[in-house]
Amino acid sequence: MPIYQYQCLNCKNSVELFFRSVQKSQKAICPDCNSPKLKKLISKVAQIRSDQQRLDGLDINHELGKLDGKSEADFARWSRRMGNELGDELGSEFRNMADRADAGDDPIERVDPAHTLRHQVDKQRDSISE
Ligand SMILES: [Zn+2]
Repeated sequence: MPIYQYQCLNCKNSVELFFRSVQKSQKAICPDCNSPKLKKLISKVAQIRSDQQRLDGLDINHELGKLDGKSEADFARWSRRMGNELGDELGSEFRNMADRADAGDDPIERVDPAHTLRHQVDKQRDSISE
């Protein structure tokens, strides 16, 4: 779960906000004065580190165990949940797959979700360590 630190430009308090998922539509609001004028304090480095921790903590076999059906709808549900858990960049790949499956466009990744998940996680690890 991503945690971001902000400074409120209205009341000058520094606040930490938790997001269930990293979606652009989510707005940060100061819990003290309800002002939407928040400045993000977290550095890019800290964000990358947290992505890496999330990947390191990911148990691929455990996640695959939650994919309990083979239909497009099952795959869409699973992909969307993975997308929400994995956060920004990696998560968006899974959300895209979920959208495609929902739209009736059978994603090629559905044939072998174990390979898909490992491949996506490895790709993300590479891009972080570069
Ligand atoms: Zn405030």
